[in-house]
Amino acid sequence: MDSTATSPPPPPTKKPLKNPCNLCQSVRAILKRPKTGQQLCKECFFHVFETEIHNTITDNKLFSRGNRVAIGASGGKDSTVLAYVMKLLNDRYDYGLDLVLLSIDEGITGYRDDSLETVKRNRDQYQIPLLIISYKDLYGWSMDDIVKEIGRKNNCTFCGVFRRQALDRGAIMLNVDHIVTGHNADDIAETVLMNILRGDLPRLQRCTSIITNDTSEDSSGIETSKILRSKPFKYTYEKEIVMYAYFKKLDYFSTECIYSPNAYRGHARVFLKDLEAIRRTTIVDIIHSGEALSASVQANESTKLPTMSNCTRCGYISSNELCKACLLLEGLNRGLPQLGIGQTTKIRRMHDAAALNSTLASGLSVPNPTASSGTEESPNGANKESSSRGGVVVTHIKDLERLTTMPTLNTI
Ligand SMILES: [Zn+2]
Ligand SMILES: [Zn+2]
Repeated sequence: MDSTATSPPPPPTKKPLKNPCNLCQSVRAILKRPKTGQQLCKECFFHVFETEIHNTITDNKLFSRGNRVAIGASGGKDSTVLAYVMKLLNDRYDYGLDLVLLSIDEGITGYRDDSLETVKRNRDQYQIPLLIISYKDLYGWSMDDIVKEIGRKNNCTFCGVFRRQALDRGAIMLNVDHIVTGHNADDIAETVLMNILRGDLPRLQRCTSIITNDTSEDSSGIETSKILRSKPFKYTYEKEIVMYAYFKKLDYFSTECIYSPNAYRGHARVFLKDLEAIRRTTIVDIIHSGEALSASVQANESTKLPTMSNCTRCGYISSNELCKACLLLEGLNRGLPQLGIGQTTKIRRMHDAAALNSTLASGLSVPNPTASSGTEESPNGANKESSSRGGVVVTHIKDLERLTTMPTLNTI
């Protein structure tokens, strides 16, 4: 035709994009976000995943410029993605952090020795220095030795107690201010659920806090842990961590620990996954419930955390004369490995049960200042029977007490 000089060029042949990315609209979506159901392209998924973690870090003021931060690294998907994302965000937003990797070698042949090889590769890939410390060096016992001595039952108790302390000791060696761990939203929701089921309020508070500090204000001169711990993945879904690692082709180790799986946690996990299949916000909803419950617990005078001082043997922070690790070691070294296992004392159980009962009563029922105060610390406190007020069923203390007799595991 003759209008070619004046008319705009014909629009490019527009084939409607099949499944466009909900954010950029210009590329085809290749995944559905487990957390929100959004259909996204790869680049937009990376962007929202990383930005949410950045927002968690800045909203909660996790770090200060110049902090030296250890990343607890096991070689598994969570800590590998954490190391990768921490480095990326530190560079992108100029946090000014000095990052190091800290790995604990529990001494589990065929599991930890292989996963530590992954961490060593991550050290080289991300150019972050690495310290590995072993149970054998710290305590004289590897997990293989411990399992030989005590069998598979309860070995997670040893491992959990020793790991927590080992991370702190490694952090002191590295002179860091802060440890970040790869606990994700699913882990935290499971722990919230388990702590509610056991009526373990101190742990419920600790597991819902994004940042914790096991320090005593009035310590008597002995070196204690002043090291902060935080969980930048507190609101990050496990499925998204797996997707991120997959699409970024990160190098991680994906075998489960060969020693006894934690059966109680396993049930909580299956239960959560079933709920998540029906309602995708379940995980984050449970975390929010845990936060609300623990805020209400904090407001309650009767549920103060135990007073912390220092272990008389090793100097580590402890609410008892001997810390849990020293108690467990004492048992191992004396050939009485049951010593210190499942030692939630009766008084402590009753105290916690009374506190939870009081919280349930005050948090869920029609406000009633006289409802079940449950402040006694003595075993007598458990003799109180709470009643149903305002039409809300208040659990009887003896039921809660039964729930708290499960072996205690300290994983978060
Ligand atoms: Zn996109
Ligand atoms: Zn100790």
